[in-house]
Amino acid sequence: MATLQLEHLTKIYNAHSNPVVGVEELDIELDEGNFLVLVGPSGCGKSTTLRSIAGLESPTSGNIRIGDEVVNKQEPKDRDIAMVFQNYALYPHMTARQNMSFGLKMTTDLSASEISARVERVASMMGIEDLLADKPSELSGGQQQRVALGRAIVREPQVFLLDEPLSNLDAKLRAHMRTEIKELQQDLGITTVYVTHDQTEAMTMGDRIAILNKGELQQLGTPLECYHSPANQFVAGFIGEPSMNFFEARREGDRLVGSGLDYPLSEDLLTDVGEAQRIVLGIRPENADIVDDPGPHTVSGTVNVVEPLGSINYVYVDVDDEERIVEVPGTRYASDGQRVAIRVPVKRIHLFDGETGDALHNPDVEEETIDGLDFAPDQREAAGD
Ligand code: ADP
Ligand code: MG
Repeated sequence: MATLQLEHLTKIYNAHSNPVVGVEELDIELDEGNFLVLVGPSGCGKSTTLRSIAGLESPTSGNIRIGDEVVNKQEPKDRDIAMVFQNYALYPHMTARQNMSFGLKMTTDLSASEISARVERVASMMGIEDLLADKPSELSGGQQQRVALGRAIVREPQVFLLDEPLSNLDAKLRAHMRTEIKELQQDLGITTVYVTHDQTEAMTMGDRIAILNKGELQQLGTPLECYHSPANQFVAGFIGEPSMNFFEARREGDRLVGSGLDYPLSEDLLTDVGEAQRIVLGIRPENADIVDDPGPHTVSGTVNVVEPLGSINYVYVDVDDEERIVEVPGTRYASDGQRVAIRVPVKRIHLFDGETGDALHNPDVEEETIDGLDFAPDQREAAGD
């Protein structure tokens, strides 16, 4: 276990001929045992960051610090790091046990019996103890990925790096492995950086998430901070599924006008808007609603299609030639082609600067905790638990 620090980490590829920004001026700090998810669209610099931490790329500038030591000049093998990739590349001619032992044999002076004990302990932790004699070709995709994770874990590294490790698995297994990796990380307490392009993985797994775009850090915070209080329009659109609806507008007196929108702003909101003239109003599908009557805080449109998901429906509404999504209860329907009013509640809107994308206003969030039942343990037993 160790702390991990990236200080102004910058990697420019082909710096002299045809420069491409991998990652720029990235500052991130992890305490011992932290789980950080690096998330962002393809090409935003996630792998570059991870490969730099591992020592597979050398930074153009900036520092990587593990514990108290700057490791920029250290060989990958000296960094006490384990990395797992999307294509987990198990050695095909070796059994699961050999795959998991190999690294320990090569890089440590542990005895054969110590290696065996470690491999078996990790295998049982990962539920693959019965597969140790199997070759990769005899294992399912999920089992292979478990062996690959196990192979990294047996090394008991200071820092654990995972680059889209679940991308090759089907949706159900992916959801299962998400929880499994998270639990494993908590049990082991290994400082971990996990890379994904999938915002659901980021939301569900990370203690904190770092959102990158075009090599630049957009926001670093807990998943809920990034969801409720996005720093800018990019984060607002990236976190949350389906994405936030955005209305481009301009300020006209105390109103926002544009894209089918004519929306009055309160004094408080006008204060948050300040001098900005171009404004983007954001509302999440789950915070909008379809109502019977138009009003000051509604926009009108035509239903394109209703997508039922059981507990909820997504209503796709065409507003001024742009598609908007509204979440309604699964028991509420609308017909295709029907004219409807979308309510955009003042308390739930986000406002962004139309020039810079910076957030000007995020709604206050009222959190609620569930009041647990107050059973004494003996009562619980009596209740049959
Ligand atoms: P991600 O993992 O987020 O998809 P990468 O870190 O792989 O993104 O890439 C970041 C940027 O750096 C992209 O524009 C990519 O094309 C570029 N890049 C990555 N590796 C190299 C390389 N070896 N040479 C040149 N450009 C690269
Ligand atoms: Mg990548």
